[in-house]
Amino acid sequence: MVITKNVDVLVVGGSVSGSMAAEVLAKGKLSTMLIEKEKTPRTKACSGIQFPYFEKLLGKTIPKDVLSQNQMTKTVIHIPEEEPSVETRKDMYKRTGVTWWKRMAYNIMDKQVSKMSPIKTDMSMYNFMRNTFDDWMNKEAITSGAEFHDQHELVSFVQNQDTTFTSTIKNKKDSTTLTVNSKYLIAADGPLSTIRRQMHPEHFTTDSDKKGGAMNYYFSANPNKDGIKVDEHALYQVYDANFNSDMFAWIYQKGVDRVNTKETGFPLWVVGTTFDNAQYKDHAEKFVNWACKTYNVGCEGVAKAHPSSENWALDVATLTPKDRFFFGDKNLLVVGDAAGLIDAYRGLGMDSAALSAQYAAKCILDQPNDAIACYTKKMMPITTPMGKKTSNSKHFFANNTALRFHVIDRFVLSGEGKKMVKCIGKNQKENDSDKMQLC
Ligand SMILES: Cc1cc2nc3c(=O)[nH]c(=O)nc-3n(C[C@H](O)[C@H](O)[C@H](O)COP(=O)(O)OP(=O)(O)OC[C@H]3O[C@@H](n4cnc5c(N)ncnc54)[C@H](O)[C@@H]3O)c2cc1C
Repeated sequence: MVITKNVDVLVVGGSVSGSMAAEVLAKGKLSTMLIEKEKTPRTKACSGIQFPYFEKLLGKTIPKDVLSQNQMTKTVIHIPEEEPSVETRKDMYKRTGVTWWKRMAYNIMDKQVSKMSPIKTDMSMYNFMRNTFDDWMNKEAITSGAEFHDQHELVSFVQNQDTTFTSTIKNKKDSTTLTVNSKYLIAADGPLSTIRRQMHPEHFTTDSDKKGGAMNYYFSANPNKDGIKVDEHALYQVYDANFNSDMFAWIYQKGVDRVNTKETGFPLWVVGTTFDNAQYKDHAEKFVNWACKTYNVGCEGVAKAHPSSENWALDVATLTPKDRFFFGDKNLLVVGDAAGLIDAYRGLGMDSAALSAQYAAKCILDQPNDAIACYTKKMMPITTPMGKKTSNSKHFFANNTALRFHVIDRFVLSGEGKKMVKCIGKNQKENDSDKMQLC
C-alpha cells in the first residue's frame, strides 16, 4: 500500500539537527514532516558533552531530567610522554610559524610539562545521554507543530521539474511505503547520509580501510566497591597518537542513567575514542586497557560493559574542505554531520548541527526563493577555520612526539585554552544565535 502526503518541508533525521530545523520551520508556520528511521528513543554512539552556551544556541532551557545526574566541572589533560626530536621540533616550528621567543618558551615548557601532567583545569560542561536528549528534541519539534514519525526511513528522492521533491519512505512498522511531496527537503541524516550519497556518491569513501569510526564503551560500576580512580566530575582528555588520530581519547562518568543502568543502580562510565581507519576498534581496545591500568575503569570483571560504535563513510578527516562541506542545491539543504560539520579536532558536532539547522530553517523562512545561497553564506565563517584546523591536525597527530609539541603549544603557549574560555563566556552573554561562534 502506498500513502501520499504533501508538506512544505520534509526533514530527514530525528536527531539534533533534524529536530532543530523542524522546530524552527513549524514555528514559522510551514507544514513540516520530520522522519527518523530508528525506533525512538534510540541510542547513539555520542559522548553527549557540550558547553553551557549550547542551551543559548538551542534557544531554550534543557530540562534537568534531560541532563545526566552527574555534573562535569573539570578537565584532566594527559600529554604524551615522548619528547619531540630536533627534526620534529623544526617541522612543528615551521608549521605553526612560531617566533624565536616561542621556541625558547617551548623548550622551557617541555621540561615543566612532564612534572605538571596530567594538567587539571576548571571547565563547566553539559553531560547527557543522546537517547534522552534527542527524544526531548523530537518532542519539542512536535510541540511546535511538526509531524513526527519514527521508524520511517527515506529510501530515495527525486527532484521534479518544478523543483519540488518526491521522496519514497519506508514505514518500518508495517512495511508500507509513504510518498511525500515537499517544496523543500532537509538532509539531517548524519554522516552516512542517504540523501548526500544519492547526490554525491564520490564524497563517500569506498576504500574500507579508510572507513574510520568512533567507539564508546559504557561500564556500569560501583565506584566505591570497584576502586575506580576517576574524579567523577572531570572529563579526562588523553592525547596519545596510538589511541586517537584526530583528538583526545576520553573517560568520564554519566551518573546513574535512567535507561542503561537503572537495574544495577550504579553510575555509567564512558571510555571512548575515534580513529580514521578501519582499525578503530583495535585502537579503542588499547585505550580501554590503558584506562583499566591507569584508572581502574573498564577492567574486565570489574564492570559491565557494552560497546557502541559508529562507522564513518563520510571521512571528514581526509576529504578536502571543498568536498567535505556540502550544503545542498536549490531547495535541498544539508545540515549537521551530513554537511560534514562534525569537528574531530574539537571533538564536538552537536553545536554546529544545531546552528546549521537553525540557519537552514531561517533561510527557508526569510528567503524562500534563494534559501541555499542565504544558508551557504551563513555557513562560511564556520567552515573556513574548521577545514583549516582539520588539515593541520593530521600533522599534529602523526606521532606522539609531534603531538606532545602540539598539545603544549595548544594549551600552554598559544593560549588556546584561554581563547576557548573567552569564546564560551562571550557566547553565554549572546542572545542572537547568528552572532555565536563555535568554541
Ligand atoms: C563516539 C562519538 C562521540 C561524540 N561526542 C560528542 C560530544 O561529546 N559532543 C558533541 O557535541 N558531539 C559529539 N559527537 C558528534 C555528534 O554526535 C554529532 O555531531 C551530532 O549527533 C550530529 O547531529 P546530526 O543531527 O547532524 O546527525 P546524527 O546525530 O547522526 O543524526 C542523524 C539521524 O538521522 C537518522 N537517519 C539516517 N538516515 C536516515 C534515513 N535514510 N531516513 C530517516 N532517518 C535517517 C539517524 O538514525 C539519526 O538519528 C560525537 C560523535 C561520536 C560518534
